[in-house]
Amino acid sequence: MQNLSVRIFPDPILQKQSKEVDNIDEKIVKLTKSMIETMKDSDGVGLSAPQVGILKRIFVCRDFSDEDKETFLILINPTIIDYQGRVESKEGCLSIPGFYEYIYRYEKINMKALDINGEEQNFHSDGQQSIVFQHEFDHLNGILFPERMTQIKKEIFLKRINKAFK
Ligand SMILES: [Zn+2]
Repeated sequence: MQNLSVRIFPDPILQKQSKEVDNIDEKIVKLTKSMIETMKDSDGVGLSAPQVGILKRIFVCRDFSDEDKETFLILINPTIIDYQGRVESKEGCLSIPGFYEYIYRYEKINMKALDINGEEQNFHSDGQQSIVFQHEFDHLNGILFPERMTQIKKEIFLKRINKAFK
């Protein structure tokens, strides 16, 4: 198991664009396993590769259809196919520990991604699953959840976290 550490705001890597994975080799398989372990250890529901310092378009998250919280999803090179509705969502982030705020997300989202076997899969989601997909997808584009706040809310929030993570 690779030892991964979660990058904390304002680590500049969190604002970088991740690159597509062109070959799902043994290294990628190992990385996703370690990401799932790191996410579980941190009590998170999702984790993206850039959050552990690797600029690849990969994220892992809980499968919310499993009430036992034992199943996880791995999405590689995900794209948003379509979306619907708007919901308010109280979010936090393993890279901004201890801070939560309400933002708006799409209510339902349809994503396409490769699974760990390189097979293309469709992921229809709503509820918490949809929120986590959008949050993690944003990480692959260097977007942290404060970017989804209204301007005033964002300024206040950034002031608070800039002070906390100096
Ligand atoms: Zn996050």
